[in-house]
Amino acid sequence: MKSLFNKGAVTAIVLLITATLSGCGEDNAQQSAAPATPSNEHYNFRLAHTWPTNFPIFGDAIHSMATMANKMSNGRINITIDSKNKHKAPFGIFDMVKSGQYDMGHSGSYYWKGKVPNTLYFTSMPFGMTAEEQYAWFYHGGGFDLTQKVYAPHNLISFPGGNTGNQMGGWFQKEINSIEDLQGLKMRIPGFAGEILAKVGGKPTNIPAGELYTALERGTIDALEWVGPSLDLRMGFHKVAPYYYTGWHEPGSEMQFLFNKEKWESLPADIQEILRVSMRLAAYDMYAHSYHESAVNWDSMKADYPNIQVKSFPNEVLQAMKDVNDVLIAEYAAADPLAKEIIDSQAAYLKKARAWTKISDQSYYETMESLQ
Ligand code: CA
Repeated sequence: MKSLFNKGAVTAIVLLITATLSGCGEDNAQQSAAPATPSNEHYNFRLAHTWPTNFPIFGDAIHSMATMANKMSNGRINITIDSKNKHKAPFGIFDMVKSGQYDMGHSGSYYWKGKVPNTLYFTSMPFGMTAEEQYAWFYHGGGFDLTQKVYAPHNLISFPGGNTGNQMGGWFQKEINSIEDLQGLKMRIPGFAGEILAKVGGKPTNIPAGELYTALERGTIDALEWVGPSLDLRMGFHKVAPYYYTGWHEPGSEMQFLFNKEKWESLPADIQEILRVSMRLAAYDMYAHSYHESAVNWDSMKADYPNIQVKSFPNEVLQAMKDVNDVLIAEYAAADPLAKEIIDSQAAYLKKARAWTKISDQSYYETMESLQ
């Protein structure tokens, strides 16, 4: 096939894109292995994701990444997307991309905690960083390289895959005024946050999405957390539980694009760069999209259901959960040197980032609130 670009022009475009993203750990991490000469070959990739067909926001980010990669490569990159309805293995993405059954995946890093414990840290940690703070850590504060340290031994590269923003603490049938109110409380809250709830007396469970509404309505569970108005509205939880608690457990959940490492390293530099830019832009845009959906959905929920009561957990409850969190994290750090390296990096970065957040965003919100 006749090339649409001469070699010099393609090289110039690649250099321009690379220069735009210079200074990021991810560039150095993968470019050395790539063949230097741009190719005019066509590249077909198969991507499997955890979500149902037409899942809003998350699914939109995946399709937008694939469309961008196709357009930027002038049709040379084609990504076929399979939802869980097709491959039937929503929590098999790690293994399917590792083995090469699929070239790419989209999922959440914390889902692999049972398989590779150190994957826990790359989605969102209770009491941890917000989306902005975490993006800064991922792209400029060493987070990307630490992610690859965990994934590379499994023949995988993990790229940020889009952020939900700060998640709400969940829908509750009863008010939580003290630790006593958590005793025996049955709540759908997966992962590490569920472990914390269990340690302070609650009973965490995980229930498939399709059964959540009925479980909450019939009292099979007393509470649940999902995401926030962006995705909660269509689930209808506000119709069956009056209390909407603010968050503590997923302050900025980042999804992931997974790539088979061997496959990635076989690709020419221009194809890698187009994929890298597409994934990065789709991830940022998912954060903006989530923010938008939460803002407009919360606006309509407030108007249509004025009895929704927004609450925050009392300090006593949050402090008890934070204490448990700190003990569990210290145990993880003591048990594994790489876990310690990640935990220390996140803690040190959070300290610096939060000092800035405090005099910038936090100060701005507080000052604006005080005005008429
Ligand atoms: Ca959640």
